[in-house]
Amino acid sequence: MTQRRSVIAGLAALPLIGLLPRGMAFAQAAALAGDTLATASGDVTIHPIHHASLIIAWGDQVVYVDPVGGSSLYQDLPPPTAILITHAHGDHFDPPTLEGIVGDATILTTDQVLGKLPAGLKDKASAAANGDSVDFAGIKLEVVPAYNTTQDRLQYHPKGVGNGYILNIGDKRVYVAGDTEDIPEMRALTNIDMAFIPMNLPYTMDINQAADAIKAFKPKIVYPYHYQGTKVEDLPALVGDAAEVRLRDWYKES
Ligand SMILES: [Zn+2]
Repeated sequence: MTQRRSVIAGLAALPLIGLLPRGMAFAQAAALAGDTLATASGDVTIHPIHHASLIIAWGDQVVYVDPVGGSSLYQDLPPPTAILITHAHGDHFDPPTLEGIVGDATILTTDQVLGKLPAGLKDKASAAANGDSVDFAGIKLEVVPAYNTTQDRLQYHPKGVGNGYILNIGDKRVYVAGDTEDIPEMRALTNIDMAFIPMNLPYTMDINQAADAIKAFKPKIVYPYHYQGTKVEDLPALVGDAAEVRLRDWYKES
């Protein structure tokens, strides 16, 4: 570990890091910290940022999901090779943050977000809809629905507007749910190795709905995210043997 830290510190001291040969990308990506998932395409690193923002990295790919909060949050991290945006709400989509971090990355998002992107970002972006399957960051990406079903929450996330995403990385399937309740399409998912599931009211669902969905589609590993105000410590008992629940601090002060 000490050795790894000193390598990172050494890289950070290099003024021309952007000009490093491609092989150095791996060492640079070591600045990401978090759990890993072994896949046929190498280890995937999961780096929570805050709330709904996270980074999923493997090989040469560094995928930022719903990056918000200002570009300074990301300045010490490897730059994105690609960016996924689930929907247009401010805790998922922030044009100034995107402008600060986008570099050469491509952006994949919804029609609605595409329509809100400033010109400089729109040139790098494309939209995909629920049900689409697209080539993205060198993998097959499945675009899945994310919406509210409870009567007094329908206005937050109407069906067909927002996206969830399944990243097929090597032999593993990583599901980022976006803002959604325990919709039938989630319950019907199969072979999910890792799932990021929101649970907060009034915008998504409560912990019991989340646990019920998890018990239905049985992801191998589940991370509660987008859970502000929810007692996620209760989730493992609610889920039982259906999934390994990984509680991480998505709200630490920094
Ligand atoms: Zn939302």
